[in-house]
Amino acid sequence: MAATAFDAHHPPDQALIDDCVHCGFCLPTCPTYVLWGEEMDSPRGRIVLMERGLDEGSEMSAQMVTHFDRCLGCMACVTACPSGVQYDKLIEATRPQVERNHKRPPGERAFRGFVFATFTHPARLRALVPLLALYGRSGLKKLVRKPSLVRLLGRLGALEKLTPAVPLRAAVRRLPEVTPAVGAKKARVGLLQGCVQRVFFGDVNEATCRALAADGFEVYAPSSVRCCGALMLHSGDEKGARDLAGRMFEAFEGCDYVAVNAAGCGSSMKDYGHVFRDDPELAAAAKSFSAKVKDVTELLEEQGPVAERHAVPLKVAYHDACHLAHAQGIRAQPRALLGRIPGLELIEPAEWEICCGSAGIYNLMQPQAASDLGRRKAENLIATGADAIVAGNPGCTLQIAAQLEELGHDIPVYHPMELLDMAIMGAGAPAKRASRPRSRGGGGDGDESEPTPEGGPAGVGRRRGAPTGQERT
Ligand code: SF4
Ligand code: SF4
Repeated sequence: MAATAFDAHHPPDQALIDDCVHCGFCLPTCPTYVLWGEEMDSPRGRIVLMERGLDEGSEMSAQMVTHFDRCLGCMACVTACPSGVQYDKLIEATRPQVERNHKRPPGERAFRGFVFATFTHPARLRALVPLLALYGRSGLKKLVRKPSLVRLLGRLGALEKLTPAVPLRAAVRRLPEVTPAVGAKKARVGLLQGCVQRVFFGDVNEATCRALAADGFEVYAPSSVRCCGALMLHSGDEKGARDLAGRMFEAFEGCDYVAVNAAGCGSSMKDYGHVFRDDPELAAAAKSFSAKVKDVTELLEEQGPVAERHAVPLKVAYHDACHLAHAQGIRAQPRALLGRIPGLELIEPAEWEICCGSAGIYNLMQPQAASDLGRRKAENLIATGADAIVAGNPGCTLQIAAQLEELGHDIPVYHPMELLDMAIMGAGAPAKRASRPRSRGGGGDGDESEPTPEGGPAGVGRRRGAPTGQERT
């Protein structure tokens, strides 16, 4: 058999390619097509490229790689396609092929290696916290953030722009392994702490724990589960992703559900059945694990509220994270959950379906396209006139917050669990705070609400004077 651009290990499936009737309905929702109007940067064009790659004698050309790399994997085309084309499966098969059959320049390989070796290791991220805190307080940050320098620094500039200024206590804070249910226990739920989420968004994890416990779940949050492998899976590092994912199945055995509060992680974890389909030892475990995975808003809505929701008078614009809305089809649940909060007004921004440009490590690898998309998203969110933004994915939060800051808007970005936590705690309206995650919990160290000695969260079931993150500013 003559060689093709793809090797024999799961090339893009010709039958899935054949489902595309080239109608073009997906084009207006594809962020790269919206940006550049180039056919080869549309879902339809990329599907044609995949088909060409299956032709005998074809090669993995640099041009092909460029168009595949420019795809955000946002799956807006999957939502839009009337023919049910599974572009998600096609691009998921294509990315590892690119990594195996195309040699990236040394600088790019080194940068990707650095990102994976850092971001997927909470312990390494924690070790960086003191340096980041020091850097955040130095005058250097202001200098480096000058737009001209950010552009000059390329990917490093993008990394700097997106890195949140974290408080020192992020280096030491830990979730209790078990948080008991408040009142009658409905179920035992495993909580993925995540890698970036655990270190940079500790407040979100704490709020998630409290909200789940208040609604009757015992929460099990093992620290041994390092990372779900989503960043690698979405970047074509199949082996790296499988190595990380495989550690999870045993860790969450005995849980009725596994709750996830980061959209990108949730979509990968629901896909493990497919990822491990060839593995004789882990295929069955992966499938049954994936069946237990729920986005936390999906779980809470399915099971119904228990704790009373108090008023949070706030006008919020809801941002649909692509890996929640498009990859998991979850749009109604977070809206329903937030809609139960008295006083909270939900506003819908224009172009909900267009990605904010975060997309895993896309905003680091393709900084200009990501920045253009981020700006567009931030402008649409600002145009709603909302007091705050709500987003269910840490990558989106960082991306939107960075763009808001660049546009000079001081609008906070919350996770739905933070707002739910405020409502359950009876915290009232949050006072104005800066939009960057650095303000989550304020600037002081050592003033964090500590878990109770029993492992339960402080403040559950009683009224607090201020909401999570707010009292510490
Ligand atoms: S996944 Fe997103 S960026 Fe990629 S082709 Fe589909 S719509 Fe376009
Ligand atoms: S992917 Fe779907 S919507 Fe897009 S061109 Fe093909 S059939 Fe049409």
